[in-house]
Amino acid sequence: MNLRIPGPTPCPEPVLQAMTRQMVDHRGPEFKEILLRVTDRLKHFFQTQNDLLILTAAGTGGLEAAIVNFLSPGDRVLAVSIGVFGDRFAKIAETYGADVRRLRFPDGTAADPEQVAAALAEDPNIVAVTVTHNETSTGVTNDIAAIARVVKGAGKLLLVDAVSSLSAIDLPVDALELDVVVSGSQKGWMVPPGLSFISVSPFAWEANARARMPRFYLDLLGAKKSLDRGQTPWTPAVSVFYALDAALELMLAEGLPAIVERHRRVAERTRQGVKALGLKLLADERYASNTVTAVLAPDGVEVRPLRAALRERGVVVAGGQGALEGKIFRIGHLGYVSEADIDQTLAALREVLPQVGFRAPAATA
Ligand SMILES: *Cc1c(COP(=O)(O)O)cnc(C)c1O
Repeated sequence: MNLRIPGPTPCPEPVLQAMTRQMVDHRGPEFKEILLRVTDRLKHFFQTQNDLLILTAAGTGGLEAAIVNFLSPGDRVLAVSIGVFGDRFAKIAETYGADVRRLRFPDGTAADPEQVAAALAEDPNIVAVTVTHNETSTGVTNDIAAIARVVKGAGKLLLVDAVSSLSAIDLPVDALELDVVVSGSQKGWMVPPGLSFISVSPFAWEANARARMPRFYLDLLGAKKSLDRGQTPWTPAVSVFYALDAALELMLAEGLPAIVERHRRVAERTRQGVKALGLKLLADERYASNTVTAVLAPDGVEVRPLRAALRERGVVVAGGQGALEGKIFRIGHLGYVSEADIDQTLAALREVLPQVGFRAPAATA
């Protein structure tokens, strides 16, 4: 199957093979060596000297850790959202008692840094800002550099969901002064689901010392103390660590600039190919994501039968989430992906579209 969903993504053979290895004592020297090596290499891809902690959790667990370790109930939080995942980040903060103010932009658009600046200027009681780097539900990548300038310029804590971007889209965590940054193993890292990665700046650790939200499994200070001994607080997903170790080896061999460039190229090919078929993109193209492309369902075409027909031809794409269900389908192109995967996807689309009621707009001369 050509698995073209934005996570879980396909894994290279050496990554799959690594997981067949026997278990080791997770409090012994073999695991310690792996833990320290992958932590070090993750920092390289995060482009950070900050602490980096690995949680056995889905990406959402990492987002929850980003909230509960740095905030107290009643803290005012500005939740910048451009889609389902931005909304989820806000919901987690609300669940733990934060006083959340939402700044929601329409689906398909990026957050406007000037509106973020205005919201911060209007309300000096805001202590933290949550934002999604790459909104997987709409295929839009925020201008995180501009947003970070505004938020850090105002001296606020900046919490970033980079679950579907980091590893594939350039995100220099230290250069942009991002305080807390979360990613997830099953997106661009070519690793199965099960691990979440989270970087923590010194400014964020200061907030941690004051933060009173309840936490236990996701306590990052505990995770840091364990890491200093070469361990994790709880039993880690050992096999997924083997996979991560193998994937990082492959990623280092390719190199971050080449990985970023491959994603840019493959994404551009996807967008051009989709448009050439007469389809339209959801995203404002200036901010179109290099890891996932959201395509509007054309008039008269239903998403469900379209996806089913693609699946019969060996191509699996994702549907829309939330309010976009039935309105779009999404093509994932992150992690272990090449031009050939995209060409096969486009060829399958060309074949099935007429069968599900699509009539190409008349070519304009
Ligand atoms: C996938 C994703 C998540 C959630 O990850 P899970 O592992 O499904 O919990 C959060 N944010 C973004 C941007 C994502 O793409």
